Amino acid sequence: MPTPNLNFDAVVIGAGIAGAAIVKSLKNNNINNFLVVDKGLCGATQTSAHSEALCHPYIGRGPSRLQRLTFLAFNEAKQVWATSWRGNGVFHLPRSQEGFSKEIMGERLLEQGFTPEKALPLSKEEALAKINVNAGGTYFPEGGWVNIQSACHEVFESLLPSQAKWSTEVAEIKFENGSWYLQDSSHALIALTKRLFLANGLGAQRLCESIKIDLPLKPVRGQLSRFRFNHESDWVARLPKVSLSGKAYCLPPTMVEKDTYEWVIGSTYDEGVDDLEEWDESHSENSALMREMLGLELLEEELKAYSAFVGVRCVASDRLPIIGPVRGHQGLYTLTSLGSRGVMWSALASQMFTEHLAHEIAHSAFLDARFFAGARLAAAGLTADLAGALGAARFLAGASNSKLILPSG
Ligand SMILES: Cc1cc2nc3c(=O)[nH]c(=O)nc-3n(C[C@H](O)[C@H](O)[C@H](O)COP(=O)(O)OP(=O)(O)OC[C@H]3O[C@@H](n4cnc5c(N)ncnc54)[C@H](O)[C@@H]3O)c2cc1C
Repeated sequence: MPTPNLNFDAVVIGAGIAGAAIVKSLKNNNINNFLVVDKGLCGATQTSAHSEALCHPYIGRGPSRLQRLTFLAFNEAKQVWATSWRGNGVFHLPRSQEGFSKEIMGERLLEQGFTPEKALPLSKEEALAKINVNAGGTYFPEGGWVNIQSACHEVFESLLPSQAKWSTEVAEIKFENGSWYLQDSSHALIALTKRLFLANGLGAQRLCESIKIDLPLKPVRGQLSRFRFNHESDWVARLPKVSLSGKAYCLPPTMVEKDTYEWVIGSTYDEGVDDLEEWDESHSENSALMREMLGLELLEEELKAYSAFVGVRCVASDRLPIIGPVRGHQGLYTLTSLGSRGVMWSALASQMFTEHLAHEIAHSAFLDARFFAGARLAAAGLTADLAGALGAARFLAGASNSKLILPSG
């Protein structure tokens, strides 16, 4: 048997949507001698085993960092995950109808860079006519949802056998003589590489501990409920025509049998919990939140929990993702803490890494202190403060944050 090659130009730990996004960046740069390592039997076996992840930009009271970042990331997500994109818009309801004004929201949206084609405020009456929801809010015509699992499968099933190693858990990483070494729990070498990408959700925390980096990550359990109800139920007259978001989110209900509708509603948010069992109380919570959001006096018992998706989100203490090269650790990159915005953050990261790697390759150097934006993303609004807000350096003692290099011409 020939000895397998263990030396790669890049290694990605984690085959969820984060790992899939990085594989796209590597391929965009013609880096093909790479390896994806995951403890699962194939891609998307953990939090990314999710088929209905909603996607629309965040709107705040003003142009905050989160608002500017999601404005950018949403546009990238539509391109990066185009083949798994579904839906015909998202209607976002404010946490409370009290004080909601279409006019004030309209001004806010303009201030935050939205044209009416991107985000349209609707009064209660307009929403009832257009969406069949009796509440004011903001309609994102381009919003939708992504089948994250199928997006991952599309990426990982196209890999050569030499590019993926499944059922393999990385227990330790270390840097020696210019390369990263990955070992399993019996200290056997899995691979070595000059470029190591940590795309393994909460698992990144443990691996970072082994190189004295403390990432403040925590688990947040979430349950998405798949309810079914009879076609004679009162709910039928009140079904939204598009996906909704707000206190809870839902997809438009679909008819699955001739007398049965199915309605996907989520998602609970249990901080510090990592239990993957299905909970009855989470179904009740999802149903209650949706009824509260829609202001409906409809019967809870008519919605029957049929199945669930349960996952554990990885969330950093400031709730932003951790994206980019890690300052002071040559050839180490992170993409973790995607929280509840896996679709958008992974897409933004994929485009940023594509540009960054191209710049590193062109200069035959690692740029661990700098994150190269690329002309297109910079023109789209990716400024130094935004890129700095994503870097791992914000959590590293004594390290000033990564600077963004903006193209000079
Ligand atoms: C209920 C729920 C609803 C959600 N709704 C939305 C939504 O509407 N919109 C949205 O955008 N996002 C949503 N999300 C978030 C989204 O699902 C996640 O952000 C995303 O799936 C995280 O992807 P990931 O690749 O970072 O992590 P994962 O998919 O968990 O991938 C990490 C991978 O790393 C592997 N791994 C870990 N440690 C090791 C190791 N040491 N060695 C080898 N392999 C390792 C794991 O096996 C796993 O495959 C939701 C999440 C939940 C739970």
